[in-house]
Amino acid sequence: MINNTSTPTADPARMPSAAMLPLGSISPLGWLRDQLRLQAEGLTGQLEEIWPDVGADNAWRGGHGDDWERGPYYLDGLLPLAYALSDDSLLAKAKPWIEAILASQTEDGWFGPRTNDDWWPRMVALKVLTQHAEATGDDRVAPFLARYFRYQLTNLSDRPLRGWARARGADNSLSVFWLYARTGEDWLLDLVDLIDTQTIPWNDYLGNALITGQARIFTHRTHGPNVAMGLKKGAIDWVRDGRPQHRYETERAFANLDRWHGQAHGWFSGDEWLGGREATAGVETCQVVEMMFTCEVLAATFADAIQGDRLESLAFNLLPASCDPAMRAHQYLQQATQIEVSVARRNWSYSSDDTNLFGLEPHFGCCTANLHQGWPKFVSSLWMRSADGGLRSVAYAPATVRTEVDGQAVNLVIDTNYPFEETVMITVETQRADPFPLQLRIPTWATGHRLVIDDIPTQSTVENGHVVINRSWQGRHVIELTIPMSVRIQRRERQAAAVFYGPLSMVHPLGENWIAIDGAPGLGEWEIRPRRSWNVALSDLDNAADWPVVRQSIPPQPFGLTGPRPGDGSPLMIMATGARATGWKADGAQASPPPASPVLDHGPADRIDLVPYGSARLRVAEFPVTGSWGGTDDL
Ligand SMILES: [Zn+2]
Repeated sequence: MINNTSTPTADPARMPSAAMLPLGSISPLGWLRDQLRLQAEGLTGQLEEIWPDVGADNAWRGGHGDDWERGPYYLDGLLPLAYALSDDSLLAKAKPWIEAILASQTEDGWFGPRTNDDWWPRMVALKVLTQHAEATGDDRVAPFLARYFRYQLTNLSDRPLRGWARARGADNSLSVFWLYARTGEDWLLDLVDLIDTQTIPWNDYLGNALITGQARIFTHRTHGPNVAMGLKKGAIDWVRDGRPQHRYETERAFANLDRWHGQAHGWFSGDEWLGGREATAGVETCQVVEMMFTCEVLAATFADAIQGDRLESLAFNLLPASCDPAMRAHQYLQQATQIEVSVARRNWSYSSDDTNLFGLEPHFGCCTANLHQGWPKFVSSLWMRSADGGLRSVAYAPATVRTEVDGQAVNLVIDTNYPFEETVMITVETQRADPFPLQLRIPTWATGHRLVIDDIPTQSTVENGHVVINRSWQGRHVIELTIPMSVRIQRRERQAAAVFYGPLSMVHPLGENWIAIDGAPGLGEWEIRPRRSWNVALSDLDNAADWPVVRQSIPPQPFGLTGPRPGDGSPLMIMATGARATGWKADGAQASPPPASPVLDHGPADRIDLVPYGSARLRVAEFPVTGSWGGTDDL
């Protein structure tokens, strides 16, 4: 029986740090490693040299430069990237930052630049320090955090969280819980409760009072990255008191965001304020990477398969689309349907004309500093400890996992080209004789799965979104998991259609002519012009499951197109049927909303090629539809 009047307790077993493996436990392989190497050789590895904001004069390193979020943001990606790749030169870059932050603490517990007293950037620095401690065991971090949290407990009443910090308090509490899991000191829970009273009640807002269209004025509640970060608030509350309502309210928040702001790729718009459901609304790169981190926290706490689905959706679609294929540059805002990348006015709530260029610092430099956490934290979160004492897959990608179960070494090798192929091979190696469970996530979009263990087909049932295999894994065993993918159609406003294949959003590519802008800062800045007209409709959706799917060998960069023909360079292409939607016109530099379907004004039947969203920087993601649909039996 549940006693609702008892004082809630924070159970360390519910905490994200109980599930997440220490930084460095998981290393990328295959296509995933290639993404991180590109990042290390591109924007992340060179950022200190090309962008003074995180150079040697940054105030977090004791200089006189930027003293707000940019230094901690950059470090929050650089550090996990360095450990994921075991890259000594990146580790050497991160070290002076860590040392400077640790050395900046004063007797009363305060730390960081003296010129900026905002609580917010310190929340990012705390995340960096806990990752550093997980990776190195540095015993200076826990007392450092304890002194700072004492300072917060003493000072927050008189100088409360405000502005960005008030929107993002859940990130502060995450680090408090990290320390609580180690010390169990109850005053830390008093701090969590105090932070809670000063943080936007996100699930109340998102579930009950969410703005139902494009935001016209700024508030912290409609700011895209704030919303992405606020969605983890329910997990923090659940860690604190264990009440199941937080899980339901979090799901209600996701559903409400999709209802009013969900775009064709499945994610809510934010340009940079919540922007409604049109496919030309924008999504900020900060929102993409913060949403990924939130999904990782939700996966660690709630352990639902849907969190892994969400994480994969971001990692395989919006994240790669946010950078150029060589990772020299990024967009501030991406559009689901993006017919050109250029300097032009677009129908966004708040962003300047250069916002969708690929460059060093289009519009504003927050994403320049923040984007680096996307891939490395995805790697760190692929596998987690499960509540039943084993290991649980959160997302599938090629990687190795070196960890332990009850102190005994367990190694996994995940050999796969997923999401471009359907089969994931998992090799388990351990000397441990006692059984332990492996939980394999079955995506919610899957209509079935096949499991073969050591060449023997194995019957398995899905419980809470996972297949649980509880047995002795002593020696070396190979699990072959196949998750069949098929074409899925999602209908949208005006009877338009969006297409999905497994975890991939599928789009029509326009061909890309990248035009370098002279005199650009950093590693370059580009506009992109299309090679073909963009206005196509799909047809015969009832037979979409029969559209041919063409797989090609995985190219060095699967998230990029290489040639003039639609599918060149794409590991996966769907040959859909459709026609030119001759009445669908551009509205300046963007597509107008799709005409109501069925469209009557169209060209002859044609093949419409579709490729993964993440590989096409120019694309159509939401399509009008020709012909009749919904059945013909009443004619
Ligand atoms: Zn940003």
